[in-house]
Amino acid sequence: MNRLPTFITFAALVLPLCSLLAQPSYLLRGSRLFDGLEMHEGWAVLVSGNRIVAAGPERAIEVPEGAETISLPGHTIMPGMIEGHAHLLLYPYGQMPWNDQVLKESNELRAIRGGVQAGMELRAGFTTVRDLGTEGAGYADVAIKQAIGQGIIEGPRLLVSGRAIVATGSYGPKGFKPDFEVPLGAEEADGADIIRVVRGQIGKGVDLIKVYADYRWGPGGEAMPTFSQEELELMVRTAASSGRVVAAHAGTAEGMRRACMAGVSTIEHGDGGTAEVFRLMKEKGVALCPTLAASDAIARYQGWDGNPASEPPRVKQKRESFRLALASGVTIIAGGDVGVFAHGENARELELMVEYGMEPLAVLRSVTSVNAEVFGLSGLGRLQAGFLADIIAVEGDPLQDVSSLRKVALVMKDGTIIR
Ligand SMILES: [Zn+2]
Repeated sequence: MNRLPTFITFAALVLPLCSLLAQPSYLLRGSRLFDGLEMHEGWAVLVSGNRIVAAGPERAIEVPEGAETISLPGHTIMPGMIEGHAHLLLYPYGQMPWNDQVLKESNELRAIRGGVQAGMELRAGFTTVRDLGTEGAGYADVAIKQAIGQGIIEGPRLLVSGRAIVATGSYGPKGFKPDFEVPLGAEEADGADIIRVVRGQIGKGVDLIKVYADYRWGPGGEAMPTFSQEELELMVRTAASSGRVVAAHAGTAEGMRRACMAGVSTIEHGDGGTAEVFRLMKEKGVALCPTLAASDAIARYQGWDGNPASEPPRVKQKRESFRLALASGVTIIAGGDVGVFAHGENARELELMVEYGMEPLAVLRSVTSVNAEVFGLSGLGRLQAGFLADIIAVEGDPLQDVSSLRKVALVMKDGTIIR
């Protein structure tokens, strides 16, 4: 009758040792390697288990016996990309308007679709994704993260923000008779109640808080600030005492200013950003997530054919505010608001960053090491000994042609080859 415990003891002691010895090792070599900071010709990376053992000139790397060499001539090896602004629970408004996704589709349907969409982002080379709000689908993002963690579905590492927080009366869906209580795309909070709502969301499993610091609720439907600076400060303080940060949606200069003064970590969109506001952001160490691809996609849903001669005002303004942001030296992270456009097309944002004037090397840094640093993801975003083995290979050289970031030939997450 003692045999079973003996076997369990044996298994508990010996099996982990075996798996440690049998950890798969890979040497990945392409024509060049981007380590998160610089491009290096002739470099390779050695992986054992889920860790990077070495990254450097290939001749300097000692390859252990039994390691598998993966050669990808003509390709660039680089860190798994990090999507800075996603909505896994949304899909392109050109297929289904936002209002209908929020009001007509069940959270269950949306969660299943969201899980599939998470897999699409991973296979597009994005091994980490910051999701900024389920837009009416409750805490389906927390569930997707759990499903990925338990190996039920394939997907990237996730940072999730749950329902997100809006000021009462500001958010949609709108346009119903006043006494009809419509399910909203985010959770309302005001004044001192902000403390309870922030803590409530933390309790439901969010990694960070997403707030809408302004929204289209002006007298003529224009974007205007929502929360006071004091309310935003309360939100940041409450989140910070639990070790979490706040990401603020803001498109107006005043909404951006208040969010910045309140101490948010990142400002999303920033369409109406002025030189002065970007300077303030730089001073306060607040990063900008420009979401160029969302504005571009929405303009196209509204009928724009992409012709520069007929560029709509909102795209023109986006170009101009991005130019001001670049000139100011504010930290620019990479995040496209994917979900507004198709999951898996995440690299669209990176193409537009280059098109709107950012240096390709700076774009590569943004989507890897800069995003990792701003999001507090230690061990990610660089190919360096000791870092986690989230590695991709893309065809060609993204410094010569940024669209090579779409041509993903290999995705490794946590040392496991996904594709
Ligand atoms: Zn968004």
